[in-house]
Amino acid sequence: MDVVIVGAGTFGASLAWQLARTGHGVTLVDQFEPGDRRATSGGETRLIRCSHGAHADYTAMARRARTLWRELERESGADLLIECGVAWFAHREDGWEAASERTLVAQGIPAERHDVASLFPSFRSDDLTFTLLEPEAGVLRAQRAVQTLAAQATTHGARVIRARARPDGATVLLDDGMRLEGDVVVWACGGWLAQLFPLLVTLKVTRQELLFFDGGPAWQAAEVPAWVDYDHAMYGTSDLDGLGVKAALDLEGPPLDPDAALDDAPTTEPAVREYLRLRFPALEHALLAEARSCRYELSPDSHFVAAPHPEHAGVWLLGGGSGHGFKHGPAMAERVAAALCGGAPLPERFALGERSPANSLRTAGSGVVS
Ligand SMILES: Cc1cc2nc3c(=O)[nH]c(=O)nc-3n(C[C@H](O)[C@H](O)[C@H](O)COP(=O)(O)OP(=O)(O)OC[C@H]3O[C@@H](n4cnc5c(N)ncnc54)[C@H](O)[C@@H]3O)c2cc1C
Repeated sequence: MDVVIVGAGTFGASLAWQLARTGHGVTLVDQFEPGDRRATSGGETRLIRCSHGAHADYTAMARRARTLWRELERESGADLLIECGVAWFAHREDGWEAASERTLVAQGIPAERHDVASLFPSFRSDDLTFTLLEPEAGVLRAQRAVQTLAAQATTHGARVIRARARPDGATVLLDDGMRLEGDVVVWACGGWLAQLFPLLVTLKVTRQELLFFDGGPAWQAAEVPAWVDYDHAMYGTSDLDGLGVKAALDLEGPPLDPDAALDDAPTTEPAVREYLRLRFPALEHALLAEARSCRYELSPDSHFVAAPHPEHAGVWLLGGGSGHGFKHGPAMAERVAAALCGGAPLPERFALGERSPANSLRTAGSGVVS
């Protein structure tokens, strides 16, 4: 089968890798180099965790993705997954973390209630009900991972083209006038997907911030886990690869056109510092080393999009990462490849069409702690 994939983010590049290594002809098109920071997958790091509240399917998919990221590491020799663990800060017994714990246990995925105070250089837990530690979760070197996926796809025979593309019926028209055709065409265009298919996909593209603080050597220790405070809509990591201690407010940011320049002003710094003061007091006055902005492409219910075009046979739309798509890339690709090659069914929740707002599957929670 010959497949044209437009978009070399985690979804498109994973699909290119998956299809190329199973013997299919692949052409991967992107307007940027893989890993460009204007793409949502272009950040240095992204969390990988299996906790998804009561969502068993996303839980299993994240676990499968972990196996596939490890496979990509073995195949390429790249060091992509930092297994530092993820600590979830729970404010109640009936919340996201307790539901996650039940789902993880049911699937045999390691998770334990753990007093994590000794793991962090500075920690306050007096407002927490418990902490759930996922020891085999951690952080992916995202930009490097996407570059590796594209490179490995090429090793398996894929052709990578740098061009801006637009759909023309069932074909792909490049900005230099070249037309690409395939047995299947997949549009995996991140924040641009809804612009390209406005009648089929609803995505809100927003500006999000990541802040990096100078926490000193203690925060560079390997045992410091990544962390999520779902109800406070905050998450972060230790100082990985010398980037600084990462802390981010995960509430929905202001709308941002996919083609607009990314402005790195640290508008969320006061809220993030307030959280650091509460949770990691030693970081309250840490120097802000860097601020980075990037885009979310949010579906109304935070479920992904993976579905055939209703009018053009062989054309598929893939995306709607909704702030939690990165980790799932290779596992989503495996499922989509099975759908493309053998007609395997995909969950109804990935379908096109109307969706109702739902609780977030990213690390945002309600953002309100009662
Ligand atoms: C700040 C931040 C933190 C996040 N944290 C996490 C996390 O911790 N864990 C996690 O799992 N996920 C996280 N995510 C979400 C995750 O990064 C995204 O869901 C995922 O990267 C989306 O991948 P994608 O392939 O759909 O889109 P993209 O990475 O944007 O890829 C789409 C590609 O399509 C190309 N393209 C678009 N239109 C065209 C066109 N017309 N012609 C040619 N090329 C085109 C673009 O150039 C781009 O390279 C986070 C996202 C952000 C912004």
